[in-house]
Amino acid sequence: MTSPGLVTLVGAGPGDPDLLTLKAVKALQAATVVLVDDLVSDGVVALARPGARIVHVGKRGGCASTPQAFIERLMVMAAREGETVVRLKGGDPFVFGRGGEEVEHLRAAGVRVEVVNGITAGLAAVTTLGVPLTHREHARGVVFVTGHAQRGGDPPDWTLLAQTAAQARLTLVVYMGVSGAAAIQQQLLQGLPAHTPVAVIQRATLPDQRHAVTTLGQLADTIEREQLGSPAVIVVGDVLQGLAAVAEQPGMARAA
Ligand code: SAH
Repeated sequence: MTSPGLVTLVGAGPGDPDLLTLKAVKALQAATVVLVDDLVSDGVVALARPGARIVHVGKRGGCASTPQAFIERLMVMAAREGETVVRLKGGDPFVFGRGGEEVEHLRAAGVRVEVVNGITAGLAAVTTLGVPLTHREHARGVVFVTGHAQRGGDPPDWTLLAQTAAQARLTLVVYMGVSGAAAIQQQLLQGLPAHTPVAVIQRATLPDQRHAVTTLGQLADTIEREQLGSPAVIVVGDVLQGLAAVAEQPGMARAA
């Protein structure tokens, strides 16, 4: 799968290294250069082969979030020098990961590129609560949506999404939504009832994971009270019903 001059975009999953695919581990162990995104856990990076050049291209690496164009140039250069390059990206490279842009850029530069899926955070997060994203009785589908508008772009139409979710019975999974939760909540309430169950899951699958189960009407208050912050996903929908019932019992912990 890996050979010199190849760039492999590898999904690092949500954090727990045990959730990597075998294909991801093989690519990591073959790579001579590994470019690591911010949201990739140290346990995953530790699986790179000894002696590989590890370049942190996010804020944690000391760069004030390396500009995308620079990362793309770096990948092309390393591939042309004959390196076997892995680009490690949190979750799945093709879910809010700019993987599409990177593939286009590499192909345009004549560099061979492969993509290895990872478990996306929205899927893993809700699974840690023992809750499915779809359920024959509660949800016929699921929407992964970003809470963050692209620079200069329009934010998602939350009201339309809420109405659609209510009518079509869909679970909503919001990435990058914690800082804008108050506005998202307000608009979702135009289409979904205030008692709709919601979970906020921070650092899912990592040892310091925290989460809270609440309702749409209480979303922003809960985030503030429990001091939940990025990286977190917000899950909205009736698949969480069982958990919400537990959270509402007096004396039961709402957050963990
Ligand atoms: N490609 C990634 C998403 C990158 S966007 C994926 O497929 O998961 C970054 C957002 O992902 C964060 O703001 C947060 O909403 C979510 N995220 C990433 N890792 C997470 C984790 N361990 N727990 C909860 N949310 C996470």
